[in-house]
Amino acid sequence: MPSPFDELRSLLNTYLSLNDILRIEEAYQLAEKAHHNQKRFSGEEYITHPVAVTKILAEMHMDPETLISALLHDVLEDTPIQKEDIANQFGKEVMELVDGVSKLTQIHFKSRTEAQAENFRKMILAMAKDIRVMIVKLADRLHNLRTIHALPRLQQKRIAKETIEIYAPIANRLGMNNFRLEFQERGFETLHPLRARILKAAVEKMHGEEEVAPQNVHARLEAGLQKARVLAKVFGRKKGLYTIHEKMKRKHLSFGEVMDVIAFRIIVADLDTCYRVLGVVHNLYKPVPGFFKDYIAMPKANGYQSLHTILFGPNGSPIEIQIRTEEMDRVAESGIASHWLYKTQQIEGEHVAVRTHGWVRGLLEMQQNIGSSLEFLENVKVDLFPDKVYVFTPKGKIIELPQGATVIDFAYAVHTDVGENCIAAKIDRRLSPFGTKLEMGQTIEIITEQGARPHPIWLNYAVTGKARSSIRHFLKSQQKSESIVFGERLLNQALSRYQLTFETIPALRLCEVIKDFKLKDTPTLLEEIGLGYFSSLLVAYQIANPQKAQQKEAKLSLPPQPLAIQGTEGMVVRYAHCCYPIPGDSVVGFLSKGQGIVIHRESCESISKQKTRWEDKIPVQWEPTIGGEFQAGLAIGLENRLGTFAELATTLSQMGSNIDDITTKEKDGYAIYFTLVLVVKDRLHLARILRKIRALKSVIRVTRL
Ligand code: MN
Repeated sequence: MPSPFDELRSLLNTYLSLNDILRIEEAYQLAEKAHHNQKRFSGEEYITHPVAVTKILAEMHMDPETLISALLHDVLEDTPIQKEDIANQFGKEVMELVDGVSKLTQIHFKSRTEAQAENFRKMILAMAKDIRVMIVKLADRLHNLRTIHALPRLQQKRIAKETIEIYAPIANRLGMNNFRLEFQERGFETLHPLRARILKAAVEKMHGEEEVAPQNVHARLEAGLQKARVLAKVFGRKKGLYTIHEKMKRKHLSFGEVMDVIAFRIIVADLDTCYRVLGVVHNLYKPVPGFFKDYIAMPKANGYQSLHTILFGPNGSPIEIQIRTEEMDRVAESGIASHWLYKTQQIEGEHVAVRTHGWVRGLLEMQQNIGSSLEFLENVKVDLFPDKVYVFTPKGKIIELPQGATVIDFAYAVHTDVGENCIAAKIDRRLSPFGTKLEMGQTIEIITEQGARPHPIWLNYAVTGKARSSIRHFLKSQQKSESIVFGERLLNQALSRYQLTFETIPALRLCEVIKDFKLKDTPTLLEEIGLGYFSSLLVAYQIANPQKAQQKEAKLSLPPQPLAIQGTEGMVVRYAHCCYPIPGDSVVGFLSKGQGIVIHRESCESISKQKTRWEDKIPVQWEPTIGGEFQAGLAIGLENRLGTFAELATTLSQMGSNIDDITTKEKDGYAIYFTLVLVVKDRLHLARILRKIRALKSVIRVTRL
């Protein structure tokens, strides 16, 4: 009967000495005896598992000690064999490796956020002693994943989740890219079989179409390189399903948008050629500025080296290019494991090992300095999950947020109520604006007030799905109630021409009108008016003139009373950004479907350009007692020298105004021209500010927009 070891032996023959192979076979005999009569879930002999794990490692040309440990990795836990037995037969090094892997196996993570700090610490410690422990563990996990179908569904899910959240980041941190990829792909397929199937079909369809595309980028790259007489291999890089899914989720992109990016890897013989290839591809397609990265001169912490650039492809879709040597490619695939590449390539691998070992050593030192496991965990996570920030509540609870998250995201992450009633925030005890991006380890305190409400501008700050959907939901319901109130005011204004008021309209008449407009009820009618879908003038006209309702040549009894703007209408009254009206300006309102009315200055140029129907124009005036803050736009020319901006900003803040926005229009060595959006109370306030600004020496000119 052929032994499971036979296949492994022929693999070992390709790179190990006979002596080493005999020792490994000895380990196989021991494992085979120890696991005798044990079966896997699938019904196979248990020994097939350690052999398969060893094969994965032998394919990576790992050293004999690692392979022996891989064969024995489950004997301590599942069989009567003791540590001493292994030490006696194979030496202390192997014993410690096996012991390390066994300890790792006993650690289970429910999920990343629930990850037990102490468990994480153990894992890092095991890794720090000898990183090969982790390499064997990763290979063990890989084989378990490849055979996961035999397990009960619940266990499949747990393992898949743990793999994606814990093991894939570790593989990534160790530079073991092919492991990371397979972890993510298999994990994703196990966790979301349906999504994986749909995505897979979509990807296959798309790749089919690409091959017949007229603008074949692949062919053009190859031809370009050939013409430049550069020897290089061009590979199309297919995106993993997990990566596509994550990008769609994280960046809110459609499948098409994610797949729009074409990616290639170009492999060359030596370092110099990398840069030559870069020149060639930049010649073929224009590079996108700011995306070139030289990881050859400055390798990543995990030892990764490559040139990265992004090009403008045909139809403007980006092309991602990676350029590297075969050696760098090997490191990119196996990372730390390439250190043990048997004999031949030891030199290149050395660098990687030094760098990665540096990381693990750093962790060890850190854990000696830092008392609590929790703090230690946070520090480890920073390295393993660079796309996350971890911040604290005042009580010391950890909140995990995506990179770029703000105070608003934090508040909603604590609780929806905290988000909705949030009025201020302290970051590390200092009051901070809502848009402040959070940094690792900060403590955030949210100050709430009963009855406080989310502001539409929060949508510009929130990045998490939870915060965004909660804010949107709130705004929608708030807009509904605001537009009903405002709709009634608009309708009353229009009815005043017929000396009617909303309250005095006969109920029957109102019902008829609502039916005419095909609406549900009175609140809906008011809401639609408030939101600008129906003109209050038309509705009022119809109410007042039941018979000739459809005729346009209406006879109006009185000129309409201007509607008073109180400044408290909420989202149904907006101030136009072309002319920035402020109290004191002569203004006019326009219905804007779905947004209520937009207020313009009467002198605004953009209204004369707009074609508006008579019923969309609403006469408005400012309520004399109006208060609050309004935006005003200024065009400013400033001398272009040090300190002039600071002087301007100081003057503005002395005048009790804030800068909301700055856009540079023109700039040369002497002057800079820009528009400034200021916060002011009214015309008088603005006039005083303008006088102060004009008095500044560095100001060349200033005008209101
Ligand atoms: Mn195992």
